[in-house]
Amino acid sequence: MSGSEARLKAISAVNSYQPLSAPLNFAETSIGELFGTNVFSLKVMKDRLPKSVFKAVVKTIDAAEPLDASVADTVASAMKDWAIEKGATHYAHVFYPLTGITAEKHDSFLVPDGQGGALSEFTGGQLIQGEPDASSFPSGGIRATFEARGYTAWDVTSPAYILENPNGTTLVIPTAFFSWTGEALDKKTPLLRSMKALNTQAQRVLKVFGAKNATLVTASCGPEQEYFLIDRNFYFARPDLIATGRTLFGAPPPKGQEFADQYFGAIPDRVLACMLETERELFKLGVPVKTRHNEVAPSQYEIAPIYENANVAADHQQLTMLTLKKVAEKYGLCCLLHEKPFAGVNGSGKHCNWSLGNSTHGNLLDPGKTPHENMQFLVFCAAVIRAVHKHAKLLRAVVAHAGNDHRLGANEAPPAIISIFLGDQLADVFEQIKKSGSAATSKQPGLMNVGVDTLPPLPKDAGDRNRTSPFAFTGNKFEFRAVGSNQSLSGPLVALNTIMTESLDYIATELEKATGGDTSKLAGAVQVLLKQIINDHGAVIFNGDGYSQEWQDEAAKRGLPNLKQTIDSLTAITEKPVIDMFEKYKVLSERELKSREEIYFEQYVLTLNVEAKMTHEIAKTVIYPHAVRYQSELAAAAANCKAAGVGFDATILGKVTDLIKSLVDKIGALEHVLPGHGGHGVANPKEAAGNCYKNMKPAIIAVREVVDELETVVADDYWPLPTYQEMLFIK
Ligand code: ADP
Ligand code: MG
Repeated sequence: MSGSEARLKAISAVNSYQPLSAPLNFAETSIGELFGTNVFSLKVMKDRLPKSVFKAVVKTIDAAEPLDASVADTVASAMKDWAIEKGATHYAHVFYPLTGITAEKHDSFLVPDGQGGALSEFTGGQLIQGEPDASSFPSGGIRATFEARGYTAWDVTSPAYILENPNGTTLVIPTAFFSWTGEALDKKTPLLRSMKALNTQAQRVLKVFGAKNATLVTASCGPEQEYFLIDRNFYFARPDLIATGRTLFGAPPPKGQEFADQYFGAIPDRVLACMLETERELFKLGVPVKTRHNEVAPSQYEIAPIYENANVAADHQQLTMLTLKKVAEKYGLCCLLHEKPFAGVNGSGKHCNWSLGNSTHGNLLDPGKTPHENMQFLVFCAAVIRAVHKHAKLLRAVVAHAGNDHRLGANEAPPAIISIFLGDQLADVFEQIKKSGSAATSKQPGLMNVGVDTLPPLPKDAGDRNRTSPFAFTGNKFEFRAVGSNQSLSGPLVALNTIMTESLDYIATELEKATGGDTSKLAGAVQVLLKQIINDHGAVIFNGDGYSQEWQDEAAKRGLPNLKQTIDSLTAITEKPVIDMFEKYKVLSERELKSREEIYFEQYVLTLNVEAKMTHEIAKTVIYPHAVRYQSELAAAAANCKAAGVGFDATILGKVTDLIKSLVDKIGALEHVLPGHGGHGVANPKEAAGNCYKNMKPAIIAVREVVDELETVVADDYWPLPTYQEMLFIK
């Protein structure tokens, strides 16, 4: 297509958009009836399993006890019958390789019966273990060829479900993925290990506080997912979006997000319809989605579920991303999950709300009304403060990837400095502890007087909000806001669980020593410990404006790391104290950590390689030809004017000519650093990542700068790429 034809077609398609499918009818099936219909839930199991088998499964889920393998056949058979009633022909072990995607291998239930017919079969063995091989996923050296087998194992704690397709359904079983040597090749295995470690140490602390029969302590997570929806026609006219998930070019639109008129605005009809169907699909899968709204940037939205067990939440989050993308297609939309699809407007994050608790004690991060009196809360909260301060670099590392580099520190997302926002009330309590060893009061929130007679006095939250903090206490949970929109939750959750485990271990040991089991000594021991923790680790607390330059300076004075780029951050996962910690709690071994570091560097390199190649291709084969056509039109006009004896102002021709020259230069410079062709794998990922950052990234940006300037000069009917204005505002 030439010139602006693709754009015009896209605009006309947007204009004449008609819904593809019949409207949903929630009056026919209420969401209560719908919820979890495609889940092999506890309720389904209770109905379909013999009592003893059901009990065994519940024990595994509620108390994290190993599953009794002898029950697997019975569970598998019930699961198969249930799935076949729901139209399933196949089952799939779903797993989460280190590329961050959701992977699945499908097998049919059919086995030949030896007499020309076939039976449907699904054994306990097939439920418990699979061998997808899947040797092309990166293993960071863990899978040498002679031990290349990769296995999946049923995660009993995350429910199986039915995946629907117009042509049939599939029974999907969440699994962990590991090598023949038992080493983790995925995101789930360490998450499960970290949940176990967290429980062990949390139990010790609860015991010091006198708990007798504390139930399993688990981490909870409620992720808020930001995303963009743009019309699919624009998407297909932007090869950069298709190949890299973000726009590599695009001049800022005249109107951006400066009016904040999109934020919480009325949701456009087509988008709302898409959200409703996305939520309906997620309801069926038992994902408790709760909140939706417009976000700050034009065409940006958010979806958030009610929090769940962190392992289940991570699986559900993967399902949410898949469902967002899948359903968007039905509405002629494309869901962009990249951290920064459009330069100059806000990017997307995934706020990871995290807490820990159990059924006997509730949420262990709930301060109650008078936190200064709530010793147990203060101890758990201090454990977080200590953990985040000690392992700020690790927390930075687990959100480090090429996409997030565009977002963190870009005045819309938290800075690269990891600090904790506690809010007035808690900051004050810890300040008192620091000064006098104990806290006598909690600032009380009081009532808000809105000045409207018909409104009752409304209770104030004890702590205000701070949107600029990467790690904020928000009432009864911490919100890790630096997580990227496109990434798996597991890395951040594994890190949070494990650093918390280490802190709780330390605290339990100190308190056990100081009290010797004598609870009358507890209050005194807690005071000493809290004071010491706040003295040693209070530097990580910051309640001010995280976007300001003063904070950058202040943080440097406090010795807090400020790692702005992925290449500076990733190495934290293989620093000695981090390796020691992960090994001590059996969450990840040194080899597993090193393989992860290597894989993440490699992902960075591969991402930049594609961006460089795409930038080169579009600039050279799409932008340049159109710019030259415009130049020759102007030149022809100049010649014609001259022949006609009238004047021609050559300012714009001159400008276009200069820009074309500059474009050719920058393309040439980019060609020098383009990756070679073919071949899997990156020889030395860490070094290659450094080179990409140093050489390739600036070359990509340099080409973009010229192209974006050309966009403001070249005649609109020659411009081949949908503009920011079109993609973000035509919906
Ligand atoms: P916010 O406080 O950000 O305005 P919400 O209170 O709606 O928003 O919570 C945002 C997310 O945090 C939701 O997914 C919610 O379920 C989750 N959340 C709430 N309480 C907890 C908790 N105790 N632990 C983990 N996540 C939580
Ligand atoms: Mg929030």
